[in-house]
Amino acid sequence: MDKNSKSIEIARQTLLQLTARKIPPTPDNYRSVYDEISGIVSIDHSKELARTLDSVLQEAGHKQPKYIVAAQAIANQIEKRDWAKLEDQLRKLIPVGATDGENVSWPMVLRNLLRQLEVSHKGITVTRKKEGLNKVLTNFGQDPDLLVQKIHGLVSSWGTGAATEGAIETPASASPIVQNSAGASTATTQKSIGADGESGEFAGLWRDMVIKSLDLVLIPQLKNNPGAEARAKTLLAGVQSAKTKSDVQAQAEALKSILFTCEMQYDAQSRMHEALLQILRLLLSSMGELVIEDKWLHGQILLINDILSLPLNIEVLYNAESSLKDLIFKQGKIKPGLVDAQETLKRMASTFVDRLVDLAETTDDYQAKIQGYQQKITTTKDIHELNTLLDNLMEDTRVMGLSAQRSRDILTETQQKVKEAELKIIELTNQLEHISEVAHEDYLTGTLNRRGMDEALEREFSRAERYNVALSIAMMDIDHFKKINDTMGHTTGDQALAHLANVIKKTLRTTDVIARYGGEEFIIILPGTELSESITIVTRAQRELTRNFFMHNNERVLITFSAGVAQRLPGEDVNAMIPRADAALYQAKQSGRNRVIGADMPDAEAEPPIDSE
Ligand code: GH3
Ligand code: MG
Ligand code: MG
Repeated sequence: MDKNSKSIEIARQTLLQLTARKIPPTPDNYRSVYDEISGIVSIDHSKELARTLDSVLQEAGHKQPKYIVAAQAIANQIEKRDWAKLEDQLRKLIPVGATDGENVSWPMVLRNLLRQLEVSHKGITVTRKKEGLNKVLTNFGQDPDLLVQKIHGLVSSWGTGAATEGAIETPASASPIVQNSAGASTATTQKSIGADGESGEFAGLWRDMVIKSLDLVLIPQLKNNPGAEARAKTLLAGVQSAKTKSDVQAQAEALKSILFTCEMQYDAQSRMHEALLQILRLLLSSMGELVIEDKWLHGQILLINDILSLPLNIEVLYNAESSLKDLIFKQGKIKPGLVDAQETLKRMASTFVDRLVDLAETTDDYQAKIQGYQQKITTTKDIHELNTLLDNLMEDTRVMGLSAQRSRDILTETQQKVKEAELKIIELTNQLEHISEVAHEDYLTGTLNRRGMDEALEREFSRAERYNVALSIAMMDIDHFKKINDTMGHTTGDQALAHLANVIKKTLRTTDVIARYGGEEFIIILPGTELSESITIVTRAQRELTRNFFMHNNERVLITFSAGVAQRLPGEDVNAMIPRADAALYQAKQSGRNRVIGADMPDAEAEPPIDSE
């Protein structure tokens, strides 16, 4: 039997055996019975395949342990010839994105992540975004394929429907409709706007309306905000040149962000207007109260002029309001004394006039009597009568002289009092002018104001330098103060500020100086104090504040602050030190607020703070 006919015979026998043994005629069963009959072992390709897969997977396992686990499972499945499970197992090894039609690549996800971090999403702060990202990195950092999926999922979840769609950047290589699940939409997506009859015309009309709204309404409103204006112009250009649905979708996030900016701007403007009105009201009422001499208004008018010459900004207005209230408060204190002095002056002047009238009357009397005597003297013939006349004349003259003398004395005395009252007025007026110019105290909180703070800083820095002693400063900023203003009103906000300053002042040592740095920020100067002790002192103030609640409408309101403390480095001046304390304050805010953080005492420069929220 030649080799060929022998093979045919073995094949025939194999089929007969399969039938006889009731074995399903699968290729594997056929091969094993064939081998049995022929007495040889045919080449098993599945073993070759298993070996090849195992070697590739073991190699991949150096980077990702999941491949080693998979290699073991695959070897078992090949050995058991469980091809269905093998297929499943192999599918699991392929990155998910590559199988579900959505091409999630690293560049796309990273680009999208950067954009989504910059755009604000309602209810999700940058800190929360970063926390989420950290969690994903910790949990899936070992598996880059899964990681890219998870980051994509997380970043997409930040935006509500439209935000996510708008924020996802279509990879250049992928279809522009990757976000569209239905295949049917593919065709319409690619069409140009206005390209297909009625619906295109309809889209074109919408586009024109959007363009007009951007050009004529939105952009002009942003002229004081160059960054936003530029973004709006880019958006306008994007809308004008949009040809496809995906072009339009790409503008959605930009539009959302600009509308958000407008909303914020509008909100800030309303508050600014309210603050402006409040200032004007104060100014007018102070004019009414104090308009005794025009030049006393000088300080206030200068201040308002200054404010009106600056670009309006809520902090400037709040500061101006504070300064005005301060001025009115101080002037109010002096005013009663001034009014008294003026009253005295008026009284003296009227006495003076009365006396002058008296004197004139007395002189008139005297004149009349002299004339009477003169007449009688010329007409009398009787020397005896003449003697009596002269006696009477002498007596009258004496009385009149006394009266004139008394009037003269009173006049002199009055003149003296007028001079005194005048001096008093000059002194008080000077004091008033001085107060307008060199007030050191903040009226609201009783702490030093900026002018007082500058002098205290200069004094303490030169003392620290001269005597080579430690000096620390703490920068403080009230936590979430806007919320207090927004929910309880600006006036209650003012009261809360005064409360905080009072509580803190009580906890400080007599040598410590607290000043209002501006708005709801304070600075504490701690002469002769090193960093750790300064932190203890500020922490004590913080604790005290959590015990002394601020009361609003009979309810306790907890006010907290964050602080950054810095100790002066050898030779360091105030301009270098304040930013260090400020950076520590920033860290205190970033790490959760209501805490005190000490600035490093670096040899090298500290890292700049990360921009967030
Ligand atoms: P954060 O914890 O981040 O500091 O939050 P915040 O809300 O306190 O924010 P920020 O410090 O930036 O804002 C402080 C706000 O305090 C701004 C302004 O509306 C308000 N403010 C500033 N000065 C005064 C003032 O004299 N009186 C009142 N009532 N509010 C002021
Ligand atoms: Mg602040
Ligand atoms: Mg604050």
